[in-house]
Amino acid sequence: MSGLFGGIEAGGTKFVCAVGASPEDLCEEIRFDTTTPNETISRAIEYFQVQNSKERLAAIGIASFGPVDLRRSSPTYGFITFTPKTNWAHTDFVGAIKGALDIPIGFNTDVNAAALGEYRWGAARGLNNFIYLTIGTGIGGGGMINGKLLNGLIHPEMGHIFIPHDTKIDPYPGICPFHHNCFEGLASGTALRDRWGKPAEALSAEHRAWELEAHYIALALVNYIVTLSPQRIIIGGGVMGQSNLLPVVHEKVKRMLNDYIQSPEITEEIENYIVLPGLADRAGILGAIALAEQEYRSLQQ
Ligand code: ZN
Repeated sequence: MSGLFGGIEAGGTKFVCAVGASPEDLCEEIRFDTTTPNETISRAIEYFQVQNSKERLAAIGIASFGPVDLRRSSPTYGFITFTPKTNWAHTDFVGAIKGALDIPIGFNTDVNAAALGEYRWGAARGLNNFIYLTIGTGIGGGGMINGKLLNGLIHPEMGHIFIPHDTKIDPYPGICPFHHNCFEGLASGTALRDRWGKPAEALSAEHRAWELEAHYIALALVNYIVTLSPQRIIIGGGVMGQSNLLPVVHEKVKRMLNDYIQSPEITEEIENYIVLPGLADRAGILGAIALAEQEYRSLQQ
């Protein structure tokens, strides 16, 4: 049995639930607002109870906003741990779903899940070392090293790296509540809106915001490239909807690396090296399905 899987893309503003086993057969998708943990998780449980009564699910994958506890031996495994999001800190997410449905649960960060989805069906097929980055309301990053999702002490927080900030060119102080001018503080959609007084999608393609945005993204990518040596970098999220942005990032990454990384992927084909998600805006929910599949397969071994 290959199995039918359930997926939850748990975002800070919206939940998406669906069932399926691949991009071709994903169905019954529902979306609802993220309200209180009790109300939101109950809606997800009710949905899966109905789905389960039609056809037994083999596993459910949860791709969650975080920070989350991914250490299986921890007493708070499967919890959303510390989060500034009202009422959600210390929420036993996996326990609530597992308790109600008695089903194997795959659990990871939203970005690691999206990375797994891209590995399974999207732009990272055939690659064992890559990064998935999302630049939207916040900035998050995940990926794989040697075919395994990047989890360590906790999980990567790639949005919070520090990048050079020239306050003469950009006096904006940054909006990260923890670090002010980290990457997320300077380059997230929230930072763009706060700095320029309108949301990213309302900034024209010619607005000088984009040159600065490309500069910050390129600085971050160069740091990831020299640290993790990824075979590809996938960037999703609402800010990347500005189609002129990616080519400028390509050009700036090449210029900053200055031929130091001697690899044709970068020196000759950077447009195939730093790419948009192959699954487009379905990377999140398909990532959750892929987490369920991974959990199910690990239990078969
Ligand atoms: Zn930060």
